Amino acid sequence: MTFVTRFAPSPTGPLHLGHAYSALLAHDMARAADGRFLLRIEDIDQTRCRAEWEAQIFDDLTWLGIRWDEPAVRQSERLDIYAEALLGLWHSHVLYPCSCTRRDIAAAMSAPQEGVQPAIGPDGLLYPGTCREETVRMGKFPNQTALRLDMQDALQGIHSIEFSESGYQTKDQDRLIRYSSREVFQTVGDIVLSRKDFLGSYHLSVVLDDAAQDVTHVIRGEDLFEATKIHVLLQRLLGLPTPIYHHHALIRDDDGKRLAKRDDARAIATYRAEGKSPEDIRRMVGL
Ligand code: GLU
Repeated sequence: MTFVTRFAPSPTGPLHLGHAYSALLAHDMARAADGRFLLRIEDIDQTRCRAEWEAQIFDDLTWLGIRWDEPAVRQSERLDIYAEALLGLWHSHVLYPCSCTRRDIAAAMSAPQEGVQPAIGPDGLLYPGTCREETVRMGKFPNQTALRLDMQDALQGIHSIEFSESGYQTKDQDRLIRYSSREVFQTVGDIVLSRKDFLGSYHLSVVLDDAAQDVTHVIRGEDLFEATKIHVLLQRLLGLPTPIYHHHALIRDDDGKRLAKRDDARAIATYRAEGKSPEDIRRMVGL
């Protein structure tokens, strides 16, 4: 099996040291395994993505010495694929329309029982289920509305979900990560799989794209570890293979906080302007 991995940035800001680490690590691992390294532009949310950030991504990666083995794929060019998968899920009755705003959800959660903290899942506050019983989930596919996955229904007949977490070195033993359906139900909740303003979501598109690109190893930050259980569940529902995952440590600033896109001081472009070399960047991220 050829090792295939990818780097999947969203063009919503400049690449910073954390992105450089993720991209270099994936690139190094692909080259060490005599495998393939792909680039995917995650621009499904067109309201936040900009062509100039995309151009900067290509430029920064090339400067870092990274080469991708196929032309970069853009999620904005694959919206039909996401729509088709959504339609399939809709017809298996595991989706329901939801009109709650973030504010509605926060309000519903702000009056919990005494001493009980609202649960936080991979996407923030766990959805309290307001629209779950009230909305129809049959008939014509509903447009212009958010669609949530009914987690209880989605997990019918699934005992547990599992994936392999690999170490950095190929000789490292993979660890099997397993969650019971009950744990998934309790820690993820009814997540959004399609948004009102565009068909699809990060979770759905990432799973469809990894499968379409024959990705065997997903190498990404440990901030996405919790989201992986959603991705593995979606792979099960959509009949797609589950790749091996490697969630790497995050690059943090001097105060221990993870870097954000708006942290321009750590942007690769800033280091380039200061005259740093790609080797300097590698050293800074510990590679
Ligand atoms: N597009 C995501 C990000 O920029 C990464 C997705 C992934 O690696 O699965 O954080």
